[in-house]
Amino acid sequence: MDERDVVIIGGGPAGYTAAIRVMQLGGKATIIEKDTIGGICLNHGCIPTVALARAVELLEMGKNAKDYGITYKDATVDFKKMMSKKEAVVRTLVSGVKQTLDAYGVEVIEATGKLISPSLIEVQLKDGTKKEQEARKIIISTGAQYPKVSFSGGVGKVINPIEALRLNEIPKSILIVGGGFIGAVFVTIFSKLGAKVSIVEESSRMLPQVDKEIVFILEKEFKDNDVKIYSKARVMNIESGKEDGLIVLINVKGEEVTAGAQYVLMTELREANIDGLGLREVGVELNKKRGILVNERMETGVPGIFAVGDVTMEHMWTTVAYFEGMTAGENAMGQNSKIDYRAIPLWIHSIPQVSCVGMTEEMAVAEGYQVKVGRFPFAGNGMATVLGQRIGMVKVIMEERYGEILGVHMIGPRTGDLIGEAALAMKVEGTLGEIAKTFHVHPSLSEALWEAARGT
Ligand SMILES: Cc1cc2nc3c(=O)[nH]c(=O)nc-3n(C[C@H](O)[C@H](O)[C@H](O)COP(=O)(O)OP(=O)(O)OC[C@H]3O[C@@H](n4cnc5c(N)ncnc54)[C@H](O)[C@@H]3O)c2cc1C
Repeated sequence: MDERDVVIIGGGPAGYTAAIRVMQLGGKATIIEKDTIGGICLNHGCIPTVALARAVELLEMGKNAKDYGITYKDATVDFKKMMSKKEAVVRTLVSGVKQTLDAYGVEVIEATGKLISPSLIEVQLKDGTKKEQEARKIIISTGAQYPKVSFSGGVGKVINPIEALRLNEIPKSILIVGGGFIGAVFVTIFSKLGAKVSIVEESSRMLPQVDKEIVFILEKEFKDNDVKIYSKARVMNIESGKEDGLIVLINVKGEEVTAGAQYVLMTELREANIDGLGLREVGVELNKKRGILVNERMETGVPGIFAVGDVTMEHMWTTVAYFEGMTAGENAMGQNSKIDYRAIPLWIHSIPQVSCVGMTEEMAVAEGYQVKVGRFPFAGNGMATVLGQRIGMVKVIMEERYGEILGVHMIGPRTGDLIGEAALAMKVEGTLGEIAKTFHVHPSLSEALWEAARGT
């Protein structure tokens, strides 16, 4: 039996990044993946969702083209083709990751992994045969999944986001439970495709981590597109109805209302993939969210075993999974790396797009900071006006005394490509004054951040 330096169970973003880091540092890495390299992100999450969001963006652009003197025939949606383009994008990227792993010399075994001891893994191949794999270090990156929702009544169905990405029809109506990042993007996709969309959110607004001024603009856009938003609301019961498919009983601010929908999409709940991993036998502990408990070096309590990505049930983003993978890979190779969660940029592929890093104004005030705020509307930005996408703004939040950037929140065109500058500035403890004194290309969307920084 050959001993590898590091064996990684799970080949999603966290796992394959860890493997690459190990190889870069001169080690030998093996990934055990039971399904498809790329995990949820590439196969069933970020990439397919964004591919569909791109399709509806093109639909919008086509509609707006007449303002520029270009008239297309009436746009029609071929949903099957849209789905097959999404699948093609996924296949291209999965094959790209496979080639990269191959180029680095990472060994990939298509199998299910289970811990036997801190240095031994049971590998069950797809044909059912089992073998054992020795490892000097083990990284667990098995991700998380949506619980199976089995309810279906008449023509109605309760689905999770992964199932929503595999629909073979545009829903006539869909009720989305959870107004978080995943819920918001599905609102955009289905409402722009003509479905009757409603959303049920427990908090007083969607996207509670995003500054309320930004969310206000997003919710207004949704409402203008006939999306019904139930805030401070909870789904109490779902039963089969007649025409609409499902009848959903919702408690809205203490009052009960009913809504009909062909589909109910549950976006919020995910559970760590820990069943059958042998964690308890080896002594790996769980945290309060029933994810694997780790420290800032991504170590579990068992020497030699690390855990990274969604399986920890914290910061469940590919953006973060990559860094946790790198941190574990480095530590498995004897370095002393620590993860730093301070400036995580987030991006929601809604129309308009939302991005943020750091605190909202409310959070900063609640933390006791003397807060100063700068804002700049995209309506005042040359490039946004050229693009015909003038809705939205950039809001910067800083600490008054030293100019420390506490948060940057934006809504508007391509904000995910703009938020990186703010994240870098926060990471290097830069100030808004420094952003204000930095040349920004003209005309560009990035000038909106510059203008907002100049306004503080
Ligand atoms: C609809 C949707 C949209 C999203 N959009 C974004 C976005 O825009 N941006 C963003 O940053 N994040 C987004 N996310 C979150 C992102 O997908 C996850 O945070 C990311 O995939 C986590 O990576 P991971 O490697 O920890 O786990 P996963 O990607 O879940 O990979 C885990 C892998 O482990 C394998 N595995 C599990 N158990 C075993 C076992 N016992 N043996 C062998 N293999 C095993 C699985 O098959 C899987 O391939 C989205 C998620 C969803 C659901």
